[in-house]
Amino acid sequence: MTRPPFHYQDDTLHCEDVPLATIAAEVGTPTYVYSKQAITGAYRAYDDALAGVDHLVCYSVKANSSLGILSMLVAEGAGADIVSAGELYRWQRAGGDPGKVVFSGVGKTEAEIKAALAAGILAFNVESIEELVAIDRIARAAGVVAPVALRVNPDVDAQTHPYISTGLKQNKFGIAADVARDVFRRAAGMPNLLVRGIDCHIGSQLTKTAPFSDAIARLCKLVLDLAADGIAIDLIDIGGGLGIDYGKDGDAPPPSHGEYGAAVKAALAPLKALPPIKLLVEPGRSIVGPAGTLVTRVLYRKPGETKHFTIVDAAMNDLLRPSFYGSHHPMQPVHKKSAATQVTDIVGPICETGDFLARDRALPPLAQGDLLAIGAAGAYGMTMSSNYNTRPRAAEVVVDGKRWRIIRERETLEHLLAGERTFS
Ligand SMILES: *Cc1c(COP(=O)(O)O)cnc(C)c1O
Repeated sequence: MTRPPFHYQDDTLHCEDVPLATIAAEVGTPTYVYSKQAITGAYRAYDDALAGVDHLVCYSVKANSSLGILSMLVAEGAGADIVSAGELYRWQRAGGDPGKVVFSGVGKTEAEIKAALAAGILAFNVESIEELVAIDRIARAAGVVAPVALRVNPDVDAQTHPYISTGLKQNKFGIAADVARDVFRRAAGMPNLLVRGIDCHIGSQLTKTAPFSDAIARLCKLVLDLAADGIAIDLIDIGGGLGIDYGKDGDAPPPSHGEYGAAVKAALAPLKALPPIKLLVEPGRSIVGPAGTLVTRVLYRKPGETKHFTIVDAAMNDLLRPSFYGSHHPMQPVHKKSAATQVTDIVGPICETGDFLARDRALPPLAQGDLLAIGAAGAYGMTMSSNYNTRPRAAEVVVDGKRWRIIRERETLEHLLAGERTFS
């Protein structure tokens, strides 16, 4: 792609060839807008970077699970990494192949395991001995053999936010590396399990390749130990993908897909002695994050004595990341302004002090009614949204060149109350 997916043209911010103001006028605000080129481009960048090794890119559905997004990735040939039966349902409704699905997560319920067995997924990424026992039992009752991979906790520091670091001993995820060999042996002895793989996921928003390399090195050592034990696996899953640029001054840019691919291939070298093993990767954030912007409108301004507030119609229920993780999102006025800036807090209408989208941000002075684009919002934006304060969730739009389409209608109050009843 030669130009970025969101760029100014005639002083108005466009997504591909469509002015964001046009979408805001027709769909209202707040609205998530995604660039199709950016999503398919990021998917292909992974696919290309891993060329030469047998691999499958399993898009992490939790990053953005809207049908319109999933359907584009299905068309690209992607697999999926899911963490619930709900995500499996979405994937299948989008036309996705269940045979390309890995099912992650520490707390799969019996109903979810049954649904995944019935669908015929590629593998369960299993996180505990009790879960292995449960899957074996449920598979036996269903008269099938369940394909499993064991998620190992490699105890490496992903050097990311503590809430999204998952590969340390103190995290709830995976089976401790030092007991994994024993757990594999137990799994191999369970009659209704087929031990196919080894898996890890050390965290999200990784901005260096070293933690990936370290984790893969630990997995490879285990795979060789397992081979010595007579347990041959044919899937190695290295978890989520690269971090993305959130536009914060001083933050190092994440490695390129090419650097990532080279580091991954180098780290997998010890497996060359074994029969071929398929590589699975589960990127989420880096596929959809940079491809999405949340468009919001300024409602009011409050020039206080100590602080200046800009109140917009998007809130923490639409984009939770700033208040939950303290995340920084880049922001740009939809209509380009003078270079002068004003330091302001961008806040939503929700009755919480934590309801902010940016704090002490230098932005061109915004006026009532102005549109503001909150960037890098395509991942963990819409999927983490809620109805707090009985706020209908935002609409979503995909842009492809000059063409655009609503992929999710703005929620209505009727939607919100569906299934509720009064009590008297
Ligand atoms: C969240 C998650 C991912 C996706 O991680 P990204 O950083 O968004 O690429 C992949 N695998 C598992 C198991 C996850 O929980």
